[in-house]
Amino acid sequence: MSKCPQIGVLALQGAYDIHAERLNELGAITRFIRTPDQLEFLDGLVIPGGESTTFLKHLERAGFYDVLNDFVHTKPTFGTCAGTILLAKDVTNPTQRSFAVLDIEVERNAYGRQNDSTILTEETSLPGGPMEMVFIRAPRITRVADDIEVLATRDGNATLVRKGKLLAATFHPELSDDVRVHQLFLDMVREHTPCD
Ligand code: GLN
Repeated sequence: MSKCPQIGVLALQGAYDIHAERLNELGAITRFIRTPDQLEFLDGLVIPGGESTTFLKHLERAGFYDVLNDFVHTKPTFGTCAGTILLAKDVTNPTQRSFAVLDIEVERNAYGRQNDSTILTEETSLPGGPMEMVFIRAPRITRVADDIEVLATRDGNATLVRKGKLLAATFHPELSDDVRVHQLFLDMVREHTPCD
């Protein structure tokens, strides 16, 4: 079997292991990424959910932030939940540092305490009909630039967006049995870096 594509899953904290399981099931080779040098040979990267402020604290060590910043600006990257917050151009509630590679605005923890965690089945333009979406202290996408493709929504707000080699979800697709979002990311990676 070809050793391609190689997908990294940022494993500093949060829900990273199930992303790797999903991607392995779909035929990718996965690596847990804990240091900046490990980014070097990857074809794509998943930045999982967790706590974006904690990610930022970890990333501020050993020049990790800058290396990751270069990566997300040049290679396929899939952010979920906190990962989406890190990719967004603008972050509110409160404002915080981000890679600003995806021209969207996100409001952190936007769905309120009573709705900390919720599972909904919502429309998506991905083939196969409505999709289960697991939201955990989720951000809300409050603005998308004109050139961003909106692939799913919740109450009129985008929940899954794509721009070129970047994919971002405000929900946790790794926690549902539906593999369409991971399959889409894998297709994007293969399109960007075809395997021999
Ligand atoms: N509330 C978290 C944050 O603001 C995101 C939650 C998640 O990733 N499930 O970073």
